[in-house]
Amino acid sequence: MAPWSLPALRKAFNAAKHTDPRFAAWWEDNSKEAYNTGLANAAAAFDNYTKSKQGKRRGRKMGAPRFKSKRKAPLACRFTTGTIRVDADGRHVTLPRLGTIRTHEPTVKLLDRVRAGTARILSATVRHERGRWCVAFQAEVKRGLERVARPDTAVGSDLGVKTLAVMADSTGEIRTVPNPNHYDRARVQLRRASRAVSRRQGPDRRTGRKPSKRWEKANAQRNKVHHRVADLREDALHKLTTAVAAEYGTIVVEDLNVAGMLRNRRLARKIADAGFGEIRRQLTYKTRQRHATRLVAADRWYPSSKTCSGCGAVKAKLPLHIRIYACDACHLVIDRDDNAALNLAALTAACTTGTGVAGDQDTAPAVSKPRGADQKTRATRTRRRASAGRAGGATLPHQRQTETRDRTQAEPLTLW
Ligand SMILES: [Zn+2]
Repeated sequence: MAPWSLPALRKAFNAAKHTDPRFAAWWEDNSKEAYNTGLANAAAAFDNYTKSKQGKRRGRKMGAPRFKSKRKAPLACRFTTGTIRVDADGRHVTLPRLGTIRTHEPTVKLLDRVRAGTARILSATVRHERGRWCVAFQAEVKRGLERVARPDTAVGSDLGVKTLAVMADSTGEIRTVPNPNHYDRARVQLRRASRAVSRRQGPDRRTGRKPSKRWEKANAQRNKVHHRVADLREDALHKLTTAVAAEYGTIVVEDLNVAGMLRNRRLARKIADAGFGEIRRQLTYKTRQRHATRLVAADRWYPSSKTCSGCGAVKAKLPLHIRIYACDACHLVIDRDDNAALNLAALTAACTTGTGVAGDQDTAPAVSKPRGADQKTRATRTRRRASAGRAGGATLPHQRQTETRDRTQAEPLTLW
């Protein structure tokens, strides 16, 4: 047994809890799940660390786990055993140790599923977030696949900050989704609320000062603004991704480096507010689990903005401030984002003319590319040849790379 695995950590804790004076006095006051959650998280962190060190883990390099502070770490506990129940009145939940608790929101949706026998609750996670206690149920849900409205149509979606998404389908229809800018709209309110908080007597750990009642009230008010922004964002993103997933047979998105974009401090606020990463996450599971449709990620270096959607010519450079694409070869003039979305939609059109089944297309081994490598867009002439190939139904080099990457992750229906 590895020394940092969950069973090993649990064994060590169980051995120490009765005898070690650091635990003996108080461990019985809490649910065993509180300790188990911490140990499970620690085991996962150690696992990430070792895998990252051995090069078996994608993404940023992980350091060794550090001790958490109860003041900074988000408070959360996951219940996996015992009485975990949504009560019959649709207004209460019952959890081990905590007992029956009234919920703010009605729980009827999950309750109906449990009663109909289409959902089985596996665990419940209680967490403290922006001043509120939330409970999330993990459930095994049976649901049939729903047919999409236009199974033969592909849509390309170009995400942006000015307009949240420009969507062009393979029939040439273009739709724009305005950016709701939830956070920016709330910034005035937040500034006011934060100012009120700063003027009250807050907690001070160094002197041991407790926060005043008025500070707590003001802080709750500020939390409320944050909460509302997050709720509005979540609601809008779900509505958008649900509608898109229910309409098209194939959805093409860009493989955006969201983590990298968030490092740009001029753009970070806008990008985090828009929720690019969340859009892709939601589309991934909604296409796969609800509709069994395809989600294709264009290669990270596919020049969707620089390519002409009319003739396929590629510009070597197109600075971000130029919002209108004007083609030098065929004199097409089109909005920059519309052009990119059309290119993305066309990317699958070429893809579907192959075998029609996404997974069948390519068996070449994955080409590994150095992380963070800067790939410059190459000249127009070579690109023309590629676009000629596209008309004939051949796979573009960009597609091939995307699809081989999917293959290594062994996911049957969606494309990464
Ligand atoms: Zn052109």
